[in-house]
Amino acid sequence: MTTCPVCGQRGIGKVGADQYYCWDCCVEFTVRDQDIRIFNVESDGTLTLYDDLIQGTVNLEVQKG
Ligand SMILES: [Zn+2]
Repeated sequence: MTTCPVCGQRGIGKVGADQYYCWDCCVEFTVRDQDIRIFNVESDGTLTLYDDLIQGTVNLEVQKG
């Protein structure tokens, strides 16, 4: 089960092979093994690295299984 690494909710949709979109906080994130990258979706559809905005305050907790 994959949950959003930002809000922890399960309201996510798969948009790519390892790519997901969270409907709750409107971010995209990729999961590849233990490496999670979070992207903020701009109004024009471009993705910016979410880490730059929050300065590492997100608790990146990967739930296995
Ligand atoms: Zn979320």
